[in-house]
Amino acid sequence: MVVDGFVASERALREAGSAVPPAGLSPAGADQALSCLIAIEKLAAGLRVVMAGQAARTGSWRIRGARSPEEDLAKRTGTSVGKADDTLKTSKRLKQQPKVEAALRDGTLSDTQAAAVSDAAHADPRAEARLVDKAGQTDLRGLNDECRKVKAAADPDPDATNRRIHNERFFRHGHDVDGALTGSFRITPQAGADVLAAFAPFREAIFKQARAEGRRESFEAIDADALVAMAVAAAGGSAAPAGGPKDVYVVADLQALRDGGSCEMDGAPVPASIVREILEGGDAFLIGVLKHGVDVQKVVRWGRYVPAEVRDALLIRDGFRCSYPGCSQKARLQRDHLQPYSKNGPTSLTNLQLLCPFHHKLKTARDRLFDPDAAPPTTHETTENRAERRTGDRRRDGPVRGP
Ligand SMILES: [Zn+2]
Repeated sequence: MVVDGFVASERALREAGSAVPPAGLSPAGADQALSCLIAIEKLAAGLRVVMAGQAARTGSWRIRGARSPEEDLAKRTGTSVGKADDTLKTSKRLKQQPKVEAALRDGTLSDTQAAAVSDAAHADPRAEARLVDKAGQTDLRGLNDECRKVKAAADPDPDATNRRIHNERFFRHGHDVDGALTGSFRITPQAGADVLAAFAPFREAIFKQARAEGRRESFEAIDADALVAMAVAAAGGSAAPAGGPKDVYVVADLQALRDGGSCEMDGAPVPASIVREILEGGDAFLIGVLKHGVDVQKVVRWGRYVPAEVRDALLIRDGFRCSYPGCSQKARLQRDHLQPYSKNGPTSLTNLQLLCPFHHKLKTARDRLFDPDAAPPTTHETTENRAERRTGDRRRDGPVRGP
């Protein structure tokens, strides 16, 4: 029987585990064992999703005293009810999603990846194979972005979705056991774009201040300080940072705009009706980008800044994220010259890409390593040439004022 195979595997794994001596394995042995365990864990997690739906139908969760199959699965696996709900939903859809099932059975999709892919493929079955492939090429955030796009494109009534989000809007806050103020909120993407546009200059100011003081803070800590600074400024306690709100990007497909489909605001789906309102209103900090298929047809800019078509087109082409394969960081993107500026590389769309600070640094280091003309790195850098190089770097590959 098939089940016997699983029972025997579990026993074999327990025996292997108890055979590990208290002092541990040799480093090479531990490394090999770890590789096996990672593969086993992935396989087991995938198979668990495959089995969960069928197992729930036996009703054995009632015998264990649970209120629902979701609650039972959450308790037995030590996860949240929300995550167990995702697992069961995915499991039940697998009959219609053979590619997701195959990827779960061979351990290439994790349960979290499978939940995202299955949910989006449920909205648009044609996207199933592409999303399964995508899961292997990008991180979870990149996969979630792609799944969100598929769902938005398949949404038969984006206006209804937007109204539902608006009707369900909330801002909850309270004190936790330590007395700390905590909170969460959910608002429409267009309202969110307003909030983030106002927030961006505070975040930038706090980040610069921390760097000037030599403090290394996490992104989250900087954002928390920026939130407080924004509240203090709103109450009239301090002036808002110079520069004003950041630009908001609206990407609209011409056909979607005409037929009432879904468009994008700072990467989040919004109904075409909202975009039409914006186009008519001429808001001060909005950039409208009209696309036909994949080609950018027109960049419309409202606001105080000089049109910078190259900058806008670059952000849109690279999807507002780092172009390094597998990375999808969106914060603090920098423009990188494929052929370095110092080697007469032009500042044109074809010679530019967006990179996060980490991958930008990595690429610059590699460029230097493989450059026969480059001076060897020196530890005796003078203040003058360091300052010169810095300003040079900033001029050529400056930070991007984008979302
Ligand atoms: Zn990156």
